[in-house]
Amino acid sequence: MNSDETTSPDTDLHAVYGYASDRGLRRELNEDSLIAADPIFAVADGMGGHEAGEVASSLCVQTLAESAIVGEHLPELSAAELEALLAEADRRIRAASGGRAGTTLTGAVMVREAGVPHWLVFNVGDSRTYRLSRGVFEQITVDHSEVQELVAMGQITPEEALVHPRRHVVTRALGTGSDTEADFWLIPLEPGDRLMVCSDGLTGEVSDSQIAQILTSVGEPQEACADLVQAALRSGGRDNVTVLVIDVEGGPAARSDEADGSPGTAHREQFDGAGRPAAE
Ligand code: MN
Repeated sequence: MNSDETTSPDTDLHAVYGYASDRGLRRELNEDSLIAADPIFAVADGMGGHEAGEVASSLCVQTLAESAIVGEHLPELSAAELEALLAEADRRIRAASGGRAGTTLTGAVMVREAGVPHWLVFNVGDSRTYRLSRGVFEQITVDHSEVQELVAMGQITPEEALVHPRRHVVTRALGTGSDTEADFWLIPLEPGDRLMVCSDGLTGEVSDSQIAQILTSVGEPQEACADLVQAALRSGGRDNVTVLVIDVEGGPAARSDEADGSPGTAHREQFDGAGRPAAE
């Protein structure tokens, strides 16, 4: 039948990843949660008084972790199935907190679409997923926040959004409010690609160009996570900060990288350090 699929050179694609989470310098609790259980990776930023936010974000990632979908079925996971999983997380958080606590959620699952490996990226709220691919660093997700809406309407600039008094107000969340709908992106993945998933405790403190500089210069995912958290703390650490970095390794492109003895570094050296393609 399909000989390409059985002999596919990308079957050995796998994730190499690291993660870090820090309470920050101002908050009493860390209400962020994360899951890094290859092939699913996500960050949840809980909100709600006292410990409610922590309960919401941890219930959310537990739902992803405990799901029967996680396991053999996961490589064929569809957006609809993931959507059902997020609905279950929403239901569990509401059952636990009566709608008083909620959480953002963003991340990605490595899936196969028609036999081809992809990232299925998902987002509810203002945590973010970025990708560094072939030297281009870009934010994949679009925040569900009041300031993002103002930026989209041209009423404020992205720089003004960073200091806007309502910058923390999210317009969608799981477990609270009326809008829980997730956005999804299906992105072909290549060996050498690097994904970063983070809470707003990173992006509120560290600029995209600084983040890109660290992601392009630090090879080890765990070391990159530690450096990103330190950068957020040096900038004030006003919020909980959580970072996941996932490298895609294996497959034909990685083998060609390895030919010069520097696996995975070729695309990083091409990066211009500006944080965005030159078109910006
Ligand atoms: Mn936060």
